[in-house]
Amino acid sequence: MYDVIIVGSGPAGLTAAIYTSRANLKTLILAGSKWGGQLMLTTVIENYPGFPQGILGQELMGNMRKQATRHGAQIIETDFKQANFNKKPFVISSGEKTYEGKSVIIATGADTRWLNIPGEKEKIGRGVSTCAPCDGPFFRNKNVIVVGGGDAAMEEALDLTNFANSVTLVHRRDAFRASKIMQDRVKDNPKIKVIFNTEVTQILGESKVEGIKLKDNKTTKVSQMPIDGVFVAIGHIPNSGVFKGIETDTEGYIKVFGHAKTNVEGVFVAGDVHDKHYQQAITAASFGCMAALEVERYLQNIE
Ligand code: NAP
Repeated sequence: MYDVIIVGSGPAGLTAAIYTSRANLKTLILAGSKWGGQLMLTTVIENYPGFPQGILGQELMGNMRKQATRHGAQIIETDFKQANFNKKPFVISSGEKTYEGKSVIIATGADTRWLNIPGEKEKIGRGVSTCAPCDGPFFRNKNVIVVGGGDAAMEEALDLTNFANSVTLVHRRDAFRASKIMQDRVKDNPKIKVIFNTEVTQILGESKVEGIKLKDNKTTKVSQMPIDGVFVAIGHIPNSGVFKGIETDTEGYIKVFGHAKTNVEGVFVAGDVHDKHYQQAITAASFGCMAALEVERYLQNIE
């Protein structure tokens, strides 16, 4: 029997685990088969406090993991399958095994949003990617596009300039929503070309990406562009669908009923699975801290 089961192992889950294990609460982290969350897919993080020169995403997550296990948290690299929140203790299943917990913190983050256009799904890994730091080296001296207008799209485009011959940013509106500093970096980079008011409607090619179909949103004119790679950076979808009985908003973000509480007493939430507004490593970590402190209070009250 665990005092708390934390589902997810990004900054929210691991920070929660650091706090609960340090408070002597018996803590299990169901980390998922790909532990560490979105930061494992990025390169240098420049805005996480405490690292004036920046820190690699994988290094930061490795440090958080070590910090949690040093204080006694147990970590299992399996995926969450289902939970029974109707009775206490809660029962969490990874498919093969079940675990009992007096409380639960849901910290499952959010996954890639895809364009859902013809030619996309079957070419994932064959020219379609969502991770420039992972796949950029495959596009050395090639021509690529990045779709999106947020910080992630700017970051992907900038990263790809280290490898690709040319990078074209395609955005559906006439203005980016990315932060000014990221927009300025993009503007200042001679390798990046921007196409506004345009949507990618199809990815062309037989077994790999060979081109794209574009639609001008102002004129509705359709055109084609030969291209070697398509990087999709259009946001994320919260990983909340697997938690039956936990209330979400219309976009799937878990609803918070004050101080990290979900609609089920004893089940708490932290990070991008409930936060569509900030989605930063540091805010996810902060939400993890808050959820852990609420768990401590909750357990003191029921015991
Ligand atoms: P985001 O800010 O939500 O931006 C998503 C972008 O994709 C928007 O420009 C949106 O267009 C576009 N989009 C959405 N659906 C689309 C579709 N179906 N077709 C075409 N375009 C579509 O997401 P994000 O860039 O992943 O960033 C999420 C959060 O993480 C933000 O808070 C961001 O600041 C943060 N972040 C920060 C950094 C950094 O500081 N270095 C790096 C990455 C992410 P519209 O603008 O028209 O809605």
